[in-house]
Amino acid sequence: MHACGHDGHVAIALGVGEVMAGLRDGWRGRLRLCFQPAEEHASGALPMIGDGALDGVDHALGLHLWTPLDAGRVAVTGGSLFGSADEFRIAVRGTGGHGGLPHLSVDPVVAAAHVVVALQTLVAREVAPDRAAVVSVGLIQGGQAHNVIAREVELRGTVRAPDQELRERLMRRVEEVARAVATGLRAEVEFEMVAGCPPVVNDPVSAEVVRKAAVEAVGEANVEVARPITVGDDMACFLERVPGCYFLVGAGDPARAVRPPHHHADFDIDERALPVGVSTSSHALLAWLR
Ligand SMILES: [Zn+2]
Ligand SMILES: [Zn+2]
Repeated sequence: MHACGHDGHVAIALGVGEVMAGLRDGWRGRLRLCFQPAEEHASGALPMIGDGALDGVDHALGLHLWTPLDAGRVAVTGGSLFGSADEFRIAVRGTGGHGGLPHLSVDPVVAAAHVVVALQTLVAREVAPDRAAVVSVGLIQGGQAHNVIAREVELRGTVRAPDQELRERLMRRVEEVARAVATGLRAEVEFEMVAGCPPVVNDPVSAEVVRKAAVEAVGEANVEVARPITVGDDMACFLERVPGCYFLVGAGDPARAVRPPHHHADFDIDERALPVGVSTSSHALLAWLR
């Protein structure tokens, strides 16, 4: 299981279809419901767009159930909501050799260790403190024996950034720092970027439509400004092409102080979130289609 609330998203989209069909005399144009086959890689949205999912589409609307936010609440922003999510792979190459005779070889373990530490300076020293960005190394692999200097160490990690400019700059800096640090220690670097999702950036005009729709659905006191979150979603590919808004629908049980996070084995949604998602979405769609 993905354990993220996507079964709830399907239920909400079907509910929106039912509500909008029931109000069919009250709006003009067409509404296309899209179901998301692969959220956290662009491998879902891009083929759908290639197959025409956005042909003739003026606005895109999407939501994610979010358990850190109480059920009954909605969070909207006119800017960046979810970050980009790209992978980097770095091969640090030395020569291999005898662990007791390090001066006769180039040691990629030491070079890779310095690369990992140096990469942690990128967000700390090169990104403004109020921007939501992350560089994480999630995999480090190399060597076979305690007394042998390895030939190669593999590093893999992820870069998350709130906008396209920072996304490109951070990935470029990951490569530059890795190369400079490793070559300074006589190792060689092979760098590969595996592009994932772009950042989810809302159109402010569309976001205001959704904010008003949320106020109609749950009242002013239950609508808040969403802060950027460093997870990814391929709704970003839709929002790069048409103006629209991706927003958060609270799905946490207010009675549970401790909630298993998204992707946790015990993850669950408070299903009172479902009608909130349907109502907010339907109000926003009616504002566009009336
Ligand atoms: Zn997820
Ligand atoms: Zn998700």
